[in-house]
Amino acid sequence: MSLQGQYDPSNIFAKILRGEMPCAKVYEDDHVLAFMDVFPQSRGHTLVIPKSSEARNFLEESPERLGGLMLGVQTVARAVRAALEPDGLVITQFNGAAAGQTVFHLHFHIIPRWEGQAIGRHASGGMADPGELRVLAAEIAARI
Ligand code: AMP
Repeated sequence: MSLQGQYDPSNIFAKILRGEMPCAKVYEDDHVLAFMDVFPQSRGHTLVIPKSSEARNFLEESPERLGGLMLGVQTVARAVRAALEPDGLVITQFNGAAAGQTVFHLHFHIIPRWEGQAIGRHASGGMADPGELRVLAAEIAARI
């Protein structure tokens, strides 16, 4: 899917927001929902998505929503750091299939990094154990 197009309400993150699909929830407020990535590129890979939004990518998000969204990203990133004590954190997002985007509801990746440890490939690793993701989500949530 290119940068142009219509929001598809059947995308997987819209289903998670509607409660039609499960997630290992880390955090929720009026603006964002955060949950564990099921194909994590590293231990603790967390996603932050805007609620009440039909932005497929960062370019489409309304400027009025950016403050709450970015505050949510920082809140969760700080909690990931406190819970897992990584050496570094990648915070990133992709816009359009050509850039690597695979789910077309705006989201930010928070990917902890440890010195000397390679991270998995984007959106092509193995599925994590749901029980382990729930434990990680609880550890991170406890630091918010
Ligand atoms: P992107 O490729 O930037 O659109 O990222 C989409 C991310 O969503 C990838 O890192 C996938 O591993 C992740 N993902 C896909 N389906 C789910 C799901 N049901 N729950 C949590 N994460 C998912």
